Amino acid sequence: MPGGLTGTDLEAYIRDAASTCWHQVGTAKMGNDSTSVVDGRRKVYGVENLRVADGSIMPRITTANTMAPCVVIAERAAELLTGEHRQWPQPEATESAAMPTRISPSSISSDDART
Ligand SMILES: Cc1cc2nc3c(=O)[nH]c(=O)nc-3n(C[C@H](O)[C@H](O)[C@H](O)COP(=O)(O)OP(=O)(O)OC[C@H]3O[C@@H](n4cnc5c(N)ncnc54)[C@H](O)[C@@H]3O)c2cc1C
Repeated sequence: MPGGLTGTDLEAYIRDAASTCWHQVGTAKMGNDSTSVVDGRRKVYGVENLRVADGSIMPRITTANTMAPCVVIAERAAELLTGEHRQWPQPEATESAAMPTRISPSSISSDDART
């Protein structure tokens, strides 16, 4: 960062100089606050039978490269899916006790901690 920049000069510098390093993530964040798209089981809030398993669910970017975390996300998703199908038909109570599949936006406070 060049020293001494503030305000609009600093903003202009960041707009011109920042790059993604090809590590775009976090557009469908996993979590339980009002900005989250999927829950801990990769299920999309408010949509039945839809999961996301890629870099988009990272709540924050990793401090290192992103490919290996994407592999882990996918492997865990496969584990969750096969686990659920082995248990099918799954008792309602078991899943809802483990992780809510839906949340009501009105029940979420803006103070909810980020995940
Ligand atoms: C140039 C470049 C270099 C990189 N180098 C590194 C590196 O050295 N190390 C590292 O760790 N990470 C690196 N990354 C980042 C890494 O590749 C990504 O973080 C990772 O691949 C993301 O995985 P993903 O599954 O989220 O998405 P992707 O790998 O982008 O997979 C998305 C898949 O969905 C498919 N798709 C898209 N739309 C549709 C559709 N409508 N229907 C069906 N299929 C669809 C696409 O064809 C693609 O196969 C690099 C990225 C880039 C672009």
